[in-house]
Amino acid sequence: MDTVPVFDALIIGAGHNGLVCACYLAKAGMRVCALERRASVGGAAVTEEFHPGFRNSTASYTVSLLHPKVIRDLRLAEHGLRIVERPLANFLPLSERDFLRVGGGLEATQREIARYSPEDAQRLPEYYARLDAVADVLRDIVLETPPNVGGGARDLFHAWRTARRLKTLSMKARREVLDLFTLSAGDWLDRWFASDPIKAAFGFDSVVGNFASPYAPGSAYVLLHHVFGEVNGKKGAWGHAIGGMGAITQAMRREAESLGVEIRLGCGVERIVVKDGRACGVALQDGTELASRCVVSNANPQLLLGLLREVTGEWREAFRNYQCESATFRMNVALSELPDFSCLPGSQAQLHHRSGIIMAPSLAFMDRAYASARERGWSAEPIVEMLIPSTVDDSLAPPGRHVASLFCQHFRYALPAGRQWDAERETAADAVIDQVTRFAPNFKSSVIGRRILSPLDMEREFGLVGGDIFHGKLTLNQLFSARPVLGHADYRMPVGSLYLCGSGAHPGGGVTGVPGHNAAREILRDRRRWR
Ligand SMILES: Cc1cc2nc3c(=O)[nH]c(=O)nc-3n(C[C@H](O)[C@H](O)[C@H](O)COP(=O)(O)OP(=O)(O)OC[C@H]3O[C@@H](n4cnc5c(N)ncnc54)[C@H](O)[C@@H]3O)c2cc1C
Repeated sequence: MDTVPVFDALIIGAGHNGLVCACYLAKAGMRVCALERRASVGGAAVTEEFHPGFRNSTASYTVSLLHPKVIRDLRLAEHGLRIVERPLANFLPLSERDFLRVGGGLEATQREIARYSPEDAQRLPEYYARLDAVADVLRDIVLETPPNVGGGARDLFHAWRTARRLKTLSMKARREVLDLFTLSAGDWLDRWFASDPIKAAFGFDSVVGNFASPYAPGSAYVLLHHVFGEVNGKKGAWGHAIGGMGAITQAMRREAESLGVEIRLGCGVERIVVKDGRACGVALQDGTELASRCVVSNANPQLLLGLLREVTGEWREAFRNYQCESATFRMNVALSELPDFSCLPGSQAQLHHRSGIIMAPSLAFMDRAYASARERGWSAEPIVEMLIPSTVDDSLAPPGRHVASLFCQHFRYALPAGRQWDAERETAADAVIDQVTRFAPNFKSSVIGRRILSPLDMEREFGLVGGDIFHGKLTLNQLFSARPVLGHADYRMPVGSLYLCGSGAHPGGGVTGVPGHNAAREILRDRRRWR
């Protein structure tokens, strides 16, 4: 290994957080190299051709959480990124005749809800306002380093600052913060609404990437995690990146390269080199060793543990116990025509085709899907969200044809009775297509190509341990000061000059750019110590 490091920072992985971190470090004058195992940058935020002539986001598929500061600082718009808001947030086919549309303005949503419950429609503005007030608390703390348990004076100051922020809230708002961080989404929503469809529309977020019933304590936080974002300044909205999620990471790559970051693709890291308790480089899978002043991991914390095989310490047990499983299944389909829903007929593009189409009509349905998945691996009637990005983006499919993203919940990573995903992938995909076909009878025959990602495929393809889309569960024992584990919430890992910049760090998963942003700040704080 070189004795004089060529690089100040080596970043393991060029997922979006690795790229964000690289940009901030390079902007501050550091010599940075990002080492990516795959053939392209972006990790779980990529666009790929999956059927001749049909492209789509492969894993993550919709934008909201990407922080506006990251968009600004990395000049993503100047590098060509364009995000469009969905004209309608959600469409829920409920039966052959009934549906619910959410979005397109408060009054439009109230009119829809009033068809099921006039009281629920009246409560909607207050619900939005109260949820948004708590989401503001989250928005305030995401860009901050959580107080580190066992840390020094700076961590005490962080803890005091966070407590002071909560002190500015009314007692009522503080109770709501407590409830949304601890209660089940079902209990929270039951307080607000009486009708099933509206509870399903809002409760769906609580099971996205969360293998749990919407009535499991802590699921309200997962709901909150999905609403702290914004699209083009509109809080809580979700949108589409023109060109798919890969457009975000390609814009990041352009910024990184313009700042002098070296990106090496097809370059897997085998081991982190540690000397005298400090990370001082990496060994690549091809045997090459590279030296650097610090090492930053964009990989899941469990993968990081594997890269530190020879290093011992009490922390290993905590990292080993870090829980990963989101129980999600993802499929892209190429379509000859748009789905024709029985409850809202027509296969010409309408507003509902441009929304997040949720096929899970009630919280009870989601609870049953969870119970069934615990027993059988997945439910015969799974929870499916479908987006058809080609209705707002003509760069993805040939004219007149479409691509749809199917994002499905409660598909276990470890199937019961020794069953294997390699033998069941196609059967599970058929169950998903059957579920959509129950609501849109032309769907099955319109599928002309598909690409399936089981939880195991996600692990193999993207390094998402246990198929976890968030690099670790968003449960209270793995959030804020406890993410990834208590004592290492400040992006500093158990070995000196080693940092975590991926979604396993605060504030967790999603295409946010925030762990990368925050980790870079901490690295720059430490920089003078390595000189
Ligand atoms: C199916 C699915 C759907 C999702 N939907 C959404 C959504 O719609 N919206 C949203 O906001 N979020 C969504 N998410 C979550 C979001 O995509 C992830 O949380 C986020 O992309 C993770 O980014 P990251 O940079 O932290 O890590 P990753 O994207 O996982 O990047 C880590 C990188 O490290 C590389 N790597 C790992 N080990 C090594 C090694 N040893 N050597 C070199 N490289 C290595 C990997 O190849 C990878 O490129 C979804 C995720 C999935 C999987």
